[in-house]
Amino acid sequence: MHRHDASIEVLTQAVLRYAVERMRLDPPPLDTSRPATDLAAMAGRTVTPAGIGGLEALRVFGDVLAPACISVDHPRFLSFVPAAPTEASILFDLVVGASSIYAGSWLEGAGAVFAENEALRHLADLVGFGPDAGGVFVSGGTAGNLSALIAARARWRARASGRLDRVRGLVIGSSNAHSSIAAAGRAMDVDVVDAVADERGRLDGAAVDAAVAALPDADRERLFAVVATSGTTNAGVIDDLDGIAAVCERLGVWMHVDGAYGGAGLLAPSVRDRYRGIERADSFIVDPHKWLFAPFDSCALVYRDPLEARRAHTQHAEYLDVLHEPGGDDADQDWNPSDFAHHLSRRARGLPFWFSLATHGTDAYRDAVETTLTVAHAGAQLIRDAPHLELIMEPELSVVLFRRLGWGPSQYRAWSDRLLRDGVAFVTPTGWAGETVLRICVVNPRTTVDDLAVLVDSLAAEVVS
Ligand SMILES: *Cc1c(COP(=O)(O)O)cnc(C)c1O
Repeated sequence: MHRHDASIEVLTQAVLRYAVERMRLDPPPLDTSRPATDLAAMAGRTVTPAGIGGLEALRVFGDVLAPACISVDHPRFLSFVPAAPTEASILFDLVVGASSIYAGSWLEGAGAVFAENEALRHLADLVGFGPDAGGVFVSGGTAGNLSALIAARARWRARASGRLDRVRGLVIGSSNAHSSIAAAGRAMDVDVVDAVADERGRLDGAAVDAAVAALPDADRERLFAVVATSGTTNAGVIDDLDGIAAVCERLGVWMHVDGAYGGAGLLAPSVRDRYRGIERADSFIVDPHKWLFAPFDSCALVYRDPLEARRAHTQHAEYLDVLHEPGGDDADQDWNPSDFAHHLSRRARGLPFWFSLATHGTDAYRDAVETTLTVAHAGAQLIRDAPHLELIMEPELSVVLFRRLGWGPSQYRAWSDRLLRDGVAFVTPTGWAGETVLRICVVNPRTTVDDLAVLVDSLAAEVVS
């Protein structure tokens, strides 16, 4: 099975044809989830002692399994955070897979790591970080947030020279932070205290100050990081980064900015000023697999001072010591991506994003992000103009929250289910201040105002479920 023989040649053609045909679908079918019992009946046994053969496995995938996966790149997939990988990034994902690159170390993956670092440099420039900034691509925002907070805790402990080594740390987040911050707190066994965001879900410096002031004296010393969000997932609201940075600097604690969804807005001149203060952060994440048009799985984690992260994350083992300069100064070390997050082996998952950036140039990215912002704002206008709908707030980025007058949770559910069943759109309800409402998130430049008009019209009708 490791020989490139005639049957592999046939399979090569079939797999490439499949990939190209999937890319050409515009739009792809929306498709829908299915219960495992249905899939078992339709797919049959696929893992057998003798194997079913590549062509048959590909047939099962194309006929049964792929249609049971909702197409997140469909222009009317507007739930959660959609994805919209560029053609160039998808093609290069195939190349990365074919190239057997170990991208955990410079020794093994120098060329790939160099290119990933070029893409990270672009993101660091957008943030306004200095020349020393750097980081690594990890699997997603959840892994990025965790790795950044581990680095933050290590710096807090190192500065205390051993005095805090057995003290449980504490992070201040926001009542509107992403669930992955609480998950990081559980994984690290640290306390996460939520500062209170305003009614739009925006956290400011005063709220962080108030949260610190409310801590018992003994707990203040445990505080090692504050997490701000540059684009909340539920509403697309950017925290007061400048105000929060001022508090972090005064207290000497690490500031992490979670821009998994919204960090892409840094590219857009129309909203760039809302991120003022982000350059004062110690670490920042953005997911290229969300609003930067790369395939899964890709989160860029960038540190202002990556040496802090290296001290926290480097793994030491007899067989790994060849990767590190013995007794070398930090600055002498090779750039090993494994040193900057909680991982070791890794795919060069930043390369599809790099290839697409290199292909199209950063101006095309700026324009694509602006396009989605324009469409989201036009959608908000359609909602404002519709007598049956009510806009909850002016969108700051590309998330639009609104309500259908007279509807409750069951009507929203029935409408959402019917839209997916009919292959029209995928829009799920969300919660806002205790109420069930509708939310759309536009990150796909193929999503048009007409697509949003289809939704607005379909909401006018009474639901027949
Ligand atoms: C999506 C998201 C995350 C989690 O990212 P994954 O890539 O899904 O792990 C974290 N924070 C914010 C603000 C997000 O939108």
